[in-house]
Amino acid sequence: MRIAVARESDLYEGRVAATPETVKKFMALGATVAVARGAGVASGVTDADYEAAGATISDTPAADADIVLKVRRPTAEEVAGYKRGALVIAIMDPYGNDAALKTLADAGLSAFAMELMPRITRAQSMDVLSSQANLAGYRAVIDAAAEYGRALPMMMTAAGTVPAAKVFIMGVGVAGLQAIATARRLGAVVSATDVRPATKEQVESLGAKFLAVEDEEFKNAQTAGGYAKEMSKEYQAKQAALTAEHIKKQDIVITTALIPGRPAPRLVTAEMVASMRPGSVLVDLAVERGGNVEGAQAGQVAVVNGVKIVGYLNVPGRLAASASALYAKNLLTFVETLIDKKEKKLAVNWDDELVKATLLTRDGAVVHPNFLPKTA
Ligand code: NAD
Repeated sequence: MRIAVARESDLYEGRVAATPETVKKFMALGATVAVARGAGVASGVTDADYEAAGATISDTPAADADIVLKVRRPTAEEVAGYKRGALVIAIMDPYGNDAALKTLADAGLSAFAMELMPRITRAQSMDVLSSQANLAGYRAVIDAAAEYGRALPMMMTAAGTVPAAKVFIMGVGVAGLQAIATARRLGAVVSATDVRPATKEQVESLGAKFLAVEDEEFKNAQTAGGYAKEMSKEYQAKQAALTAEHIKKQDIVITTALIPGRPAPRLVTAEMVASMRPGSVLVDLAVERGGNVEGAQAGQVAVVNGVKIVGYLNVPGRLAASASALYAKNLLTFVETLIDKKEKKLAVNWDDELVKATLLTRDGAVVHPNFLPKTA
């Protein structure tokens, strides 16, 4: 059983799919591990660290690998260097990327999308959305604080008092909860909103104020899977009016709202941005999925009337070492389910619900029901 840890070809991707710690665990499972030269450098892991853990360093680690571990979906060029029949496990970003899925299928790969892992107890330690969103929520507050020209905590000094910053978090999933906790730790006055009623208690338990239109639609706004539903136009209008008044008085707004498989909901209009004081900061964590904030620009800090809109891409990657450590653990626990530990060999149970939920392609075809090629 040969495992390859590929190098990320995306220039802005600093994460890596394995750490020396997970390499050791893979070896204990009977695998040999080959790591691409320099793959861990941006996450603070040297080739020597991987070698000390038992891996070999290679320029083409994936050439004969049975399992290829990556952070991002491999490009067509990368795929061309993989063995037919290999398992490729990564954050595949499958929505709207049919051509890329076809490339994986045509190469005869079994491609797994880690972000489709079901959110069931058994798979909690494999949940890349949570492990990465948690770090993104933390980093969003750090990025906001860095762009904000004032202090976050209240400071009473001999030279006068600095008031605490007001921070508003929109979307209270994993990222939003961590953003609330981080902003609170930095001493800000924090409020938050979400369309899922269950979040009210969570927000309040973190010492923040909850703000939402709490009507009948709100009370039913959660899917069985615990995700947000797309809200009606009427609800959106009521909620927008409430938040518009609130945003005017905020120093920092952090948006994290997502709906699985849909474009991100637009929560902050240009008008709301214009209502904020110069020097205020917005951070749009949903910018890669279309953005929650009007005027947010992917990969940039846009300045509109003195208000900064932070639209950094790959926010977990801005904490590459931490993000890699958690991602690598997510991969390890998933790969463990694909291995017969007694025989020390690959033994995929294609009927396992974790496999079924994440497997995109197999035996030359796209097999995931959500991504089947459309027949004319
Ligand atoms: P997400 O990234 O899909 O979305 C972020 C947040 O945006 C969600 O809380 C969502 O309700 C909110 N949102 C969507 N539309 C909105 C709107 N118009 N206005 C305001 N907010 C809006 O969410 P997530 O972080 O992946 O978490 C979703 C749920 O899954 C949470 O309940 C979380 O606790 C749960 N979860 C469960 C497990 C598990 O059981 N293993 C693991 C992680 C998360």
